[in-house]
Amino acid sequence: MSLERLNKLRETIRRHDRLYYVEARPEIGDADYDALYRELEALERAHPEWITPDSPTQRVGGAPLAAFRQVRHNPPMMSLDKTHSRDDLLDFDTFLRRQLPDEIWDYVVEPKVDGVAFSLLYEDGVLTRAATRGNGEVGDDITANIKTIRSIPLRLADAPPLLEVRGEVYMSRDGFAELNQREEEAGREPFMNPRNAAAGSLKQLDPREVARRPLDAMLYATGAIKGAVFPSHSGLLQRLADWGFRTPPWLRLCVDIQAVLTAIDELEALRHTFPFEIDGAVVKVNRRELYERLGSTAKSPRWARAFKYEPERAETRIWQITVQVGRTGVLTPVAELDPVLLAGSEIARATLHNADEIARKDIRVGDRVWVVKAGDVIPAIESVLTEKRTGEERVFSMPETCPECDSPVVRREDEVAHRCVNPACPAQRVGRLEHFASRDALDIRAIGGKVAEALVAQELVRDPLDLFSLTLPQLEAFRIGDEASGTRRFGKNAQTALDALDAARTLPLDRWLFATGIPGIGVTVAEQIAAAHARFSDLDASPILQAVVRLAELYAEAAAVNPRSTLNRPQNDEEREERQARFNRLCGEIGVTGDELVAAGVATKTPGSTLPPLYSSVIKTEAARSVLAYFASDYGQRYLARLRELGIDPQAKARLPVPADAPLAGVTFVLTGTLSQPRTQIAEQIKAAGGTVQDAVTKQTRYLVAGGNVGATKTNKARALGTTVIDEAGLLALLTGTATPSSAPAPETPRTAQKTADPPDTPYRQQELF
Ligand SMILES: [Zn+2]
Repeated sequence: MSLERLNKLRETIRRHDRLYYVEARPEIGDADYDALYRELEALERAHPEWITPDSPTQRVGGAPLAAFRQVRHNPPMMSLDKTHSRDDLLDFDTFLRRQLPDEIWDYVVEPKVDGVAFSLLYEDGVLTRAATRGNGEVGDDITANIKTIRSIPLRLADAPPLLEVRGEVYMSRDGFAELNQREEEAGREPFMNPRNAAAGSLKQLDPREVARRPLDAMLYATGAIKGAVFPSHSGLLQRLADWGFRTPPWLRLCVDIQAVLTAIDELEALRHTFPFEIDGAVVKVNRRELYERLGSTAKSPRWARAFKYEPERAETRIWQITVQVGRTGVLTPVAELDPVLLAGSEIARATLHNADEIARKDIRVGDRVWVVKAGDVIPAIESVLTEKRTGEERVFSMPETCPECDSPVVRREDEVAHRCVNPACPAQRVGRLEHFASRDALDIRAIGGKVAEALVAQELVRDPLDLFSLTLPQLEAFRIGDEASGTRRFGKNAQTALDALDAARTLPLDRWLFATGIPGIGVTVAEQIAAAHARFSDLDASPILQAVVRLAELYAEAAAVNPRSTLNRPQNDEEREERQARFNRLCGEIGVTGDELVAAGVATKTPGSTLPPLYSSVIKTEAARSVLAYFASDYGQRYLARLRELGIDPQAKARLPVPADAPLAGVTFVLTGTLSQPRTQIAEQIKAAGGTVQDAVTKQTRYLVAGGNVGATKTNKARALGTTVIDEAGLLALLTGTATPSSAPAPETPRTAQKTADPPDTPYRQQELF
């Protein structure tokens, strides 16, 4: 019975992984997914003998490796011949026609993802090995690392006995930007570009670290195969997609080489619309049966070519290097450039990341340089045109004191970043103040940007709570701007600011918790924590947050002492008994702690008699830890004391029961694009009318409210899921009751029908771009 449940759980989780990670159309929320996952984990804890390597729980597992095992590729992993020239492609076609005078064939053109080549081996449908290309003959066994990539299936349905799939591991532009921000904030060296970040991540010996990297994989080729034949390349891609692999999101079938050249131009025009970097196009003969006859050179197959696009870059001059101080005190050098046009926008500044980067590239003030868009978003200096140096260039060094507060700059031994560690640093104060006053925080609109800077510079505000001590005459007399460009009085904005501050005093707990700026506490997490507490002053010694942390610790301890653990088996009967007793005690404590959380409405218990019992908490352990640590710090204690003095103690939102006849009862919305009011306000109106607002479109979404600047991709995706797309006027009509909600979503457009559409007509499979 239990084994049946276990298999069912695995199958369900695999299906949801695919919906979420490959197809970007989740059907269940995170909490429901977590509950399934926890149930599976518990079943496997109770029955370690049932754990198989293809279980979803085995994606991140095992201890760090000492080194990678070597793997021999059979057949070898070749690379493609690369060219920048259209004439080369004409020659390629002429050569093929001479080799196969009696044959006809189509070409396939697909984007070349800028990633790291790798291979996956499936035996009887189960992923047994993943390897880097290495030198083509021998690569590294990176199975543990690859299993952490959720879009790669660990098991294939109806697979041949042996199947090797090849492709590219890559990092999306968004993932790259996020990772680099994390690296910089942690004082580590940022990655040069997404490919570099993907390669560096795969080299990690600890799979748990790899799991934290936003890696993805695209598959588009095969190696060894037994028991299956794929007559065409386009058919192979379709089969790979059916198995659940991510495949190239764009392709063209071309009848001749002229059509290939047109497709290559078309793809180049689209290259910036993909969420990942592409550095070229791949041209392949579609008929795979011709591959053997065409054969290969020592390094590359004769039936394919890679056409590389020129990187978009521009020449300009660095006239100055300035230094910015961030909210966390990190000093970032920035190149100030003579403005230049690059990939459609004017570039006047480029980040230099840190002193090491400047030294490595030998960048000097006054240098002529090549500017590129790294990840196609952030302008970066590619290289210096040293041959154009005049001798006037100046070597740059990081300031020894903070440009904002003059306190000494610190560089910790294990960090590449220089930091201002003065908590009173105005740059950091301005950052905290801006966050406090921002729209999703306390929405004090008169206090932002230049005003925040001026308030800090004139020492009217040191910490955000000082805002509440400001008086009307003080604010009216307050001047913004600098002497160079002229100053102006804050004037009538003073009353606006005071009114907003007055309103902020009674804003609900979730907004205040977010405004406080605790690491890791974003809008959603703040809402989850606020929902479980009555008032702000309950947070610092919250028994609920303490229980969330305690529960995680108990689970970890129970897993470690479980006498049935396969990783840590008892040495003898005595140890087994002792551990069993301790395990039983821990299971009891888990039950008590978990029940407390259930009573508080924070957790749910999975029915069943597993050991330990299974609880799934809405508040995540890391968030609970972060809030408790913040209020335990001196700064947090002073913050609480100051709030008490001010008589501010934000309350949780009163939850009024929604009447059953509310106009939007049970109707689900997603908001996107530029709307006439802040999104939070519109969401409040929808909630007040009984509706719910989600972050992303799922099958449950009835309406996508699309404001300005919304791409067709997004609305098409919504329509494909049966969601009705309306504008703000349409929403207003629903809210005021002049229109009534449509019935349940239309049946979903079958996804397979879209995917198998004839490539020449609908080659741009938009729904896969998310
Ligand atoms: Zn400073």
